[in-house]
Amino acid sequence: MKVLTIIGARPQFIKAAVVSRAFNEHRPDVQEIIVHTGQHYDANMSDVFFDELEIPKPDYNLGVGGGTHGQNTGRMIEKLEGLMMDIRPEWVLVYGDTDSTLAGALAAAKLHIPVAHVEAGLRSFNRRMPEEINRVLTDHVAAILFSPTETGRQNLLNEGIAEEKNKLVGDVMYDASLFYKDKARKPLLPEELRIKGDDFVLCTIHRAENTNDPQRLKDIFHGLNDSGETIVLPMHPRTRSKIADYGIAIPENVWVIDPVGYLEMVWLEANCRLVATDSGGVQKEAFFYSKPCITLRNETEWVELVDARWNRLVGADSGLIASSIKFFSPEKMRQPLYGDGDAADKIVMEL
Ligand code: UDP
Repeated sequence: MKVLTIIGARPQFIKAAVVSRAFNEHRPDVQEIIVHTGQHYDANMSDVFFDELEIPKPDYNLGVGGGTHGQNTGRMIEKLEGLMMDIRPEWVLVYGDTDSTLAGALAAAKLHIPVAHVEAGLRSFNRRMPEEINRVLTDHVAAILFSPTETGRQNLLNEGIAEEKNKLVGDVMYDASLFYKDKARKPLLPEELRIKGDDFVLCTIHRAENTNDPQRLKDIFHGLNDSGETIVLPMHPRTRSKIADYGIAIPENVWVIDPVGYLEMVWLEANCRLVATDSGGVQKEAFFYSKPCITLRNETEWVELVDARWNRLVGADSGLIASSIKFFSPEKMRQPLYGDGDAADKIVMEL
């Protein structure tokens, strides 16, 4: 059986790594063909993940990246359609909520190739997010939907998606955290930054709602500054360029480093005191490594973390950001929220 896996952005490499491993372990009958759309192309946003997570090298790289959402999605659809017509896979496997996800799902659905969507059913209910559009449309053309959470499963039912297509399997990122946590390694940090562990805050910022809004981005950096804490910030290339465009000065307590590989990110997550992020994946990883998280957004798809009071939504409110960085401390009572660590096994067996 041929499965065409479509990936293109950093979190997708991590999710696909665990599923590829599960194919190798449990499905010798499957030939997985990996297509990298080229959406993320910097070495530290792409190549490093293939090297350190031992993902098989992509069979195809479409080299589509750097354009607008419409340009990228359109170019990807055109190239993917051609590939799919040549390869004729039994399944097309897409992950998450990027333009690569949507392009893969649309190209396949119109060729009547069944689409399997990993991380289905997540909703922010904010249609201004490009990710939300990608998720909703992908879910509605998918033939099988793998939800990471009960909330996701319920969202799909609420949208009228047939129950028999809707599989609650747990979160492949939880599987990844279990597999890679012992392989974590300390990143190269600036010499003057002497962290002992548990004495710094880890921050990531890359969501368009923050990076494309100068006021929000300024307010976030104000909040980070006012917290007075030592903050390590592996900076996404988009954020870096927007900060330069808006002329935002990086506060002295914020240590900006280049994006790090996943194993280094795991080290930072496991060793920090608190996480401040607008990333979906990083919110959950904070929970996996028992670190409190404040989320630099007004809403989240991972609502169970907020309900469990492990995550506090602080938006771009500088006062709330500063005080939450200093004082937010959830109770240590935690229940497992993201499955049993075998989501990838369930996915490959289901296909
Ligand atoms: N990540 C990483 N290096 C970094 C920042 C993030 O490896 O410098 C990892 C992080 O651990 C998580 C994933 O990238 O597994 C999250 O991706 P991102 O924040 O880009 O996207 P989102 O999860 O918001 O879709």
